[in-house]
Amino acid sequence: MGFCSYCGETAFKITKEHLWPTKLHSRLMTANKQQENAFWLRKLDATLGVEPTIRDVCAPCNNGFLSNLDGYACTLFDNSFSKIVQRYETVKFVSDYHQLKRWLLKVCYNSARVHTAFDVFAYQPLLPYIRGVSDATGRSVHLYAHLTYPDTAPAERVKDGVPRLFEPTSNRVGFMNFTVPGVGRKVMRTVHIRSYSFFLAFFEPKETSAVRTDFDSQFLAEIPNAVRLRPSSSAVSLVCDGWSAWDSFEGSRVNQIVVEE
Ligand SMILES: [Zn+2]
Repeated sequence: MGFCSYCGETAFKITKEHLWPTKLHSRLMTANKQQENAFWLRKLDATLGVEPTIRDVCAPCNNGFLSNLDGYACTLFDNSFSKIVQRYETVKFVSDYHQLKRWLLKVCYNSARVHTAFDVFAYQPLLPYIRGVSDATGRSVHLYAHLTYPDTAPAERVKDGVPRLFEPTSNRVGFMNFTVPGVGRKVMRTVHIRSYSFFLAFFEPKETSAVRTDFDSQFLAEIPNAVRLRPSSSAVSLVCDGWSAWDSFEGSRVNQIVVEE
């Protein structure tokens, strides 16, 4: 018996929620021709052969909206994420804005709970949005995307399984610092799935629309070929000229990715 991390209800049967949905993970393994499970967990600084899970979700949430969101992510995988996009290629990315954003937020929330991350509090006001109860609650989060392109890894790093042709095949959740001149630093969440990188910016109620618009323009100017996804448009054109897969992996860009999980 315990409290569900999504609906807050007391649950007589608490179930396991996977950090990455099982069906999505099996798709990634197949797409990458990967034989063994490998999950790097920052909290332990170790690679695990077993997928991290969190046992704090009630059965109705797990078998209801969470399962539906995972199903939607699998559909997106089959339609978009399965393919490694080549540099300068343009793809039409079609998604249901709210389903995608709700799923990304729940992956970040899961990760935050697995790692007891400092930002776990940020998801509490967003739970009605993640659960699909209130679309309006999600307006405090902006969603951006861009495509990462295959690159060559530096010669000295081509060892221990690091190939020379470094393709964006991994999936990970992390943080990114982004500093807006005159406004300050914002800690964002990132979710990388193969060629696709998603960026989530969280705004507080006191941050006006002018602040948000300014953030948009600074972010889009700084992050190469990023676009903001919006509920009004289900299809966007993405040019595969964002970050190089190697740079993204190494987290060595100007707005350094401070943590990768
Ligand atoms: Zn629940």
